Amino acid sequence: YRAKRAGGGHAFFHPRYDQPVPAEMELLVALHHALEHREFELLYQPIVRAHDHTVMAYEALIRWNRAGTVISPLDFIPLAETSGLILPLGRWVLREACTAVAQGRLTRVAVNVSPLEFTQLGFSEQVALILRETGVDPQRIMLEITESSLLDPVRGKEVLRELRDLGVHVGLDDFGMGYSSLSALAQLPVKVLKIDRFFTQHVDEPGAEGHRSVELIRAIVILAGAFGLVTVAEGVETAQQAQTLQALGCDYLQGYWFGRPEPLQPGQPPASTDVAVNLQS
Ligand code: C2E
Ligand code: MG
Ligand code: MG
Ligand code: MG
Repeated sequence: YRAKRAGGGHAFFHPRYDQPVPAEMELLVALHHALEHREFELLYQPIVRAHDHTVMAYEALIRWNRAGTVISPLDFIPLAETSGLILPLGRWVLREACTAVAQGRLTRVAVNVSPLEFTQLGFSEQVALILRETGVDPQRIMLEITESSLLDPVRGKEVLRELRDLGVHVGLDDFGMGYSSLSALAQLPVKVLKIDRFFTQHVDEPGAEGHRSVELIRAIVILAGAFGLVTVAEGVETAQQAQTLQALGCDYLQGYWFGRPEPLQPGQPPASTDVAVNLQS
């Protein structure tokens, strides 16, 4: 998040002592309180199959209901990360999402994992524990990580293997914005690439940015095909974008055009039970 938000995380801290400034101390206290008092909620956004728009899974996205005001994760995840609070928070998120699947309220769910969680010693054991506690089928769970979780490629690969052995899927979120080497990617036990919203949003624009986005998506799709990976385009807001992305060969689509993140409805169809990703390795 720090890299993505161009130093936003650092702005929270006193430049010299790396201490939270008073306003952030207050937010941190409020975050602790929120975790204890269950002020967090997961919303779920559909992920559809590109060729027929069948809902195949949902992505869980956290919100903080702070005294009637809904706070975006972009406004508290960075502080949760720098303070370490992301660790208990992340466990809550995973347990909540796995429980929804175990109860049959969703067939498949994608859960975001922050780099601090992923690189924490014992992360895969934590995941294993939650899978066991909730009794969920691990094949129905996808963990979304970002390239910044893989800065230490040796350790990253080790954790990815442990997760694969547990049976959960792993996807690379915001793909295309970082600088993973393609040869490194080909060796990772990762099966899903989520193409960053930035490219989706430019895909139908005339001019250089549009052209660049189209060619980049084309390249990602070819790469994915060559290594047996599946692609999801994020941030699809128009029918035209959906059409273009499908024509470019993206396997799945996600975005406001198909549905906004929403609370689980009592009668909500739990997404198709068709096999979504066929994991070979
Ligand atoms: P992300 O994982 O890349 O999630 C996609 C974000 O794009 C979500 O923002 C989603 O609401 C938004 N989005 C989806 N479709 C569209 C669209 O068509 N147009 C536009 N403009 N936006 C769209 P959200 O929910 O605010 O989450 C922001 C980020 O916060 C996420 O990005 C993820 O990195 C992080 N996050 C969210 N929930 C969690 C969580 O439970 N744990 C962790 N560690 N991070 C989370
Ligand atoms: Mg995500
Ligand atoms: Mg994303
Ligand atoms: Mg994103």
